[in-house]
Order: sequence, then structure tokens, then C-alpha cells
Amino acid sequence: MDYLVLAAILLGVLLLAGVGLVVPRLRRQPPLPPAPPTPPGGLQPQEPPPLEEGDRSVGITVEERPPAPPTEPEQAPAEPVAPAPPVLERPEPTAGRLVRLRTRLSRSQGLLGKGLLNLLSRDRLDEEVWEEIEESLISADVGIDATREIVDRLRERTRVLGTRSATELRTLLTEELVAALDPQLDRALNTAGEPSVVLVVGVNGAGKTTTCGKIARVLVADGRTVLLGAADTFRAAAADQLTTWASRVGAEVVRGPEGADPASVAFDAVKRGIDTKVDAVLIDTAGRLQNKVGLMDELGKVKRVVGKHGPVHETLLVLDATTGQNGLEQARVFTEAVEVTGVVLTKLDGTAKGGIVIAVQRKLGIPVKLVGLGEGPDDLAPFDPAQFVDALMGVESRGTDA
Ligand code: GDP
Repeated sequence: MDYLVLAAILLGVLLLAGVGLVVPRLRRQPPLPPAPPTPPGGLQPQEPPPLEEGDRSVGITVEERPPAPPTEPEQAPAEPVAPAPPVLERPEPTAGRLVRLRTRLSRSQGLLGKGLLNLLSRDRLDEEVWEEIEESLISADVGIDATREIVDRLRERTRVLGTRSATELRTLLTEELVAALDPQLDRALNTAGEPSVVLVVGVNGAGKTTTCGKIARVLVADGRTVLLGAADTFRAAAADQLTTWASRVGAEVVRGPEGADPASVAFDAVKRGIDTKVDAVLIDTAGRLQNKVGLMDELGKVKRVVGKHGPVHETLLVLDATTGQNGLEQARVFTEAVEVTGVVLTKLDGTAKGGIVIAVQRKLGIPVKLVGLGEGPDDLAPFDPAQFVDALMGVESRGTDA
């Protein structure tokens, strides 16, 4: 009998304990309270704070926020630490950037500017001098065809005008270099779309991801809103890199898991851009140096899939200026794979071969729209032929965009 009473009491206690454990789990909780401001110096992410009852809100998934360990539910609640609001940067205005960055072309200036002027200021402009001028231009990567054309025209004009002074010769050479860059071409980024969709293509290492980040800053500096699509899904670091660039200017990033289909990430990015009504969607693509068929297939698919939302407004080819004439060969493969509408020439600060701009423009027949002149976030400048040639020649700029 005693045993029966004891067993009944034990059963009762167990039942009560069970109900106590289950009921709080089933209770629907109110949403998270607004986060209090973060104290200065408290920005380092720490261990996630123990969850309060109210923290187990409906919308938070297990992946977003893990549940508190069941052994310590009754501890005194800690102050919730809100993630630090990102400190948004204000990108530098685009006007005058090329003038600011002109000194970065100093290595090219040595070759083109000073060298040529020395030759041109000699007493006699004989055959030997003209050959040396040709060599200087070719060494600066202007390209053989463009060099011949420039020198032929220069010779003709000096003959007709009877030019002898170094200053006049410099003016004539400057004019010829500007003319070789086709100054009438429209170099503005096409921002007519709602949103404008910009595909950024090029081989790995050319500076594509960096350029996407810098272009985002250019657009933000010009008062536009931007979304970035991380369609280089073969390199997890590329998506991380892009996310860092985006967070600095408050832009959103759409990314997929590593190895995801680049076309589907690009599609989602444009969709999100349409939904959130941003002005521009920039899509960073993968740049594996594969065979032409593979490249065409991949980029063609990205463009086709994105095209379901509307047109792609710009396809920018990023080229590393330090790769010189080899880069031109790679560029040709890309121009055959997709319709490239503009070139971004990066790393012009790292080469003495600034003349590559002329070669690229003439060989590809596509306007150089932007130039990269350093690793700093605002070291990307809209390309202006007259200012660029002035900088190459080491003369004071006309400052048309300043
Ligand atoms: P991706 O593989 O084409 O996406 O290339 P990344 O954007 O990762 O850039 C490769 C490297 O080039 C990075 O170290 C960049 O900082 C560097 N880079 C990009 N643009 C420039 C530039 O204009 N000047 C210099 N000096 N470095 C650059």
C-alpha cells in the first residue's frame, strides 16, 4: 500500500515537471524589442548574448540566431548587443579625379613626355629622330599601327607648318595623341535604365571585383543608389570582397553559395534591384581563363538570363594595363563572347606603358570609360582623353571636368 502511495506521488511530480518544461516552448513570443544604441568601443562582435524569453521571436530562423543553451535559461538577462551600424563613407566626387590622380602616371610620363620632348627639341628633325619617336611610342605600348599613324601625321604637320619650336611640337604631338583616342566617343556610363544593369567582365586578377566596388562608389558619389550582384561564385573571396565594398557605401549585395550558378545569382540580383528600385545593379562575373566556348557559354547565359528582366545597359571589360599587348589578346576573346560597351583599364599607376589606352581603344574600337590609378577606394577616374594626354605628357591640365 505504501508503495502504491509513493508511486502515485512520484508520478504526479513527474507530470508537473513535464508540463513546466513543455509549456514555455509552445508559448508564442512577442517580437524583438528595438536595439538600444551601442556604446562606443563596444563594436567587436562577442559571444552571442543569452537569449531572453522575448528573443525567441517568430521571424528568426535557427541559422540566424542559435537558441540559448537549455541549462542556463534563468540567468540574469544581459543587455542585447546590437550589431554595430556600418559607418558609411562619403565617396569623393568624380569630377577632377583624373587631375588628382595624374601624378600616378609618372612612370609613363618619363617615357612619353620627357623622352619625346627631348627628341623634338633637337635642332634637326632627321630620320633618326623620327625613328626614336616611334620607338618611344611603341615602348609606351601605343601599338605599332597607331604609332605609325601618329608619327606620319606629325611629320606631315611639322613639314607643312614649318614648326621648329619645342612648344609647338609638343602641342602638335599632344593633339595627335588626343585625336588617336577619338575624343568624340561617348564615355559616360549608361545609366538610363530603371535600374541600369551593368555587367563587369574580365580575366581573374584584372581588378574586376575591385572595380565593381569602385564603380559603386562613383555612382553613389553621383547621388545614385546601387545594388551589387556577386556572380563570381567560383571564388568565395570575391563575394566577401564585394560585400565589404558594398557595406562601406550602404549598398546591398546579392550573393549565392560558393559554386552556385552565376546566371541565377545575376538574375536574383537584378530582380532584387527592380524590387528595391535602385538606380543601378552592378554584376561581378567570374573571370576564369577558360576556352572561348566555355566563356561564351557562361557569359552568354548570364546575359540571357538577366535579359529576362530587361536589357543589359553596359558590359564593361576590365583590363589590366600592366599586361600590355597580351591583355589585348584576352580582351578580344571577351569581345567575341559578349558585346562589350566600354573598357575599364586598371593599374595604370603600376606601369610605364600608359600608351596602352590608345592601343586598346584603337584595336578594340570600344571606348575606354574609366581608368584605375591605384588601390585606394576612389582611385578610379572617368576617362577624359585631353586630360589623360596632358597627364602623360606632363603638362598642366586643361581641367575640363574639374
Ligand atoms: P579580379 O580577380 O579581377 O576580381 O581582381 P581583384 O579585384 O581581386 O583585383 C586584383 C588585385 O588588383 C587587387 O590586389 C587589387 O587591389 C588590385 N587592383 C585593382 N585595380 C587596381 C589599380 O587600378 N591599381 C592598382 N595598383 N591595383 C589595382
